[in-house]
Amino acid sequence: FPSRLPNVGTTIFTVMSALATKHQAINLGQGFPDFPCDRHLIAKVNDAMLADHNQYPPMIGVADLRNGVQKKIQNLYGHHYDPESEITITAGGTQGILTTILACVSPGDEVIIIEPAYDSYRPSIELAGGKTIAVSLEAVRDINGQVASYNIPWDALQKAINPKTRLLIINTPHNPTGMVWQKSDLDQLANIVRNTSTLILSDEVYEHMVYDGAKHHSVASHPELAARSFLISSFGKTYHVTGWKVGYVAAPASLTAEFRKVHQFNVFTVNTPMQYGLASYLSNASHYLNLPAFYQAKRDFFRAGLEKTKFKLLPTPGTYFQCVDYSALKIPEAKLPEAEFCKWLTTEVGVAAIPVSAFYENTTESGVIRFCFAKQEQTLSSALQRLQPL
Ligand code: GLN
Repeated sequence: FPSRLPNVGTTIFTVMSALATKHQAINLGQGFPDFPCDRHLIAKVNDAMLADHNQYPPMIGVADLRNGVQKKIQNLYGHHYDPESEITITAGGTQGILTTILACVSPGDEVIIIEPAYDSYRPSIELAGGKTIAVSLEAVRDINGQVASYNIPWDALQKAINPKTRLLIINTPHNPTGMVWQKSDLDQLANIVRNTSTLILSDEVYEHMVYDGAKHHSVASHPELAARSFLISSFGKTYHVTGWKVGYVAAPASLTAEFRKVHQFNVFTVNTPMQYGLASYLSNASHYLNLPAFYQAKRDFFRAGLEKTKFKLLPTPGTYFQCVDYSALKIPEAKLPEAEFCKWLTTEVGVAAIPVSAFYENTTESGVIRFCFAKQEQTLSSALQRLQPL
């Protein structure tokens, strides 16, 4: 039968993790922590199971968890979402993204993404019958030609918006560049969507990973944008439990009603004991408030080590990803395309990474790969030792 996704293979994160396992490489590819989550969180999930919270929870998610999400968003971003009609618990960020797209994109609608873009956006749009319009983040280079920061391509975005534009997908902090949107960026976004029927999907799964004292600016902190946005986040990222697959989508009631029509027949609902465990854990804000310092220490440790190698470091204002440019290494492999370089690095050097070209539709080769630094210091040290001789 004809494929619904003829141009899609297996996601790069799965491919690189499998290759890393096969070759016993240190896996700095797919984004996940290699350290344990808090035992108290596990105990809370265990308690929930022993208390017989083992049947279907409400379709929209356990009330305690939705109330916890409401309080967190209110405290951090000052916006009140009604937990009954505006917050839905999802099976991770990726399900939230697909369900949002299926809920609001009709065949022929246009959806704007900003490349490099997370690899699930495009296939999700395609499944909905939508048309992807990609614009590129603008790299700002220093006098040595190194990327110093990124700008949002406002002119291209403005030009791309037309009456067929149903949705615009943004992602801050941004995977893979680590770019963090400023308040002025949200203002500018509001300017360009005002008087249009464009909705916003804001992928904020790395919301608690911003560094050097910077602040995460959520669409929830901007009332005008919040009124037309689906805000997506992930407990897996925040609580070091990516395998639990629990996240949430917050959106105005009219958008949430459409979201839930799809959600109920997509996953119906999300595993019950994890929701109870997370609800109890979320009521203490200290974990996510400490997360920037926790990950900044890892980022700084990893960057200090990389400074001693011949890789060129790109900036990392947010996320747990560090991009590096390998094109100036004095080895023949420095000429390889990014995907080939990552395969070689995994199989021959023993360190797995993700080619940034995987975040583009038309392979853009700039000699940049992505490492994940959500790892124990020992893991990062071992990886650095292997990268040092290159
Ligand atoms: N978001 C993760 C990353 O970029 C991957 C998640 C996944 O593999 N589905 O590495």
